[in-house]
Amino acid sequence: MTSWGCDHERTAREAYFKVTASKHSSFSINDAGLFINPDTPFIGATPDGLVHCDCCGDGVLEVKCPYSKKDVPMETACADPSFYLSTSDQVNNQGKPFSWKVTQTQTMTRPKKT
Ligand SMILES: [Zn+2]
Repeated sequence: MTSWGCDHERTAREAYFKVTASKHSSFSINDAGLFINPDTPFIGATPDGLVHCDCCGDGVLEVKCPYSKKDVPMETACADPSFYLSTSDQVNNQGKPFSWKVTQTQTMTRPKKT
């Protein structure tokens, strides 16, 4: 993680919580730790958090604070076809290693069995 990312991750996480909690029932974000997929134990992921709400269930939080887009609104950043996000909330995996890291984290993180 870059210095810029370290400096802004907590602020981004808090802003995400504030916006999302108002739209979901009993929304929470918890720290995650290391996840290792038992089918491929040589690959792991460390998501930035695990999210949960009563209406949608469990999910993974991956916070990104791209320095290259620090001075533009999110809508402008998403209009850049080389950027890894779009306004449709879909990850743009058009050959961008950074977006594959996000996809890997989402794929590797499985809810704990209870
Ligand atoms: Zn929900």
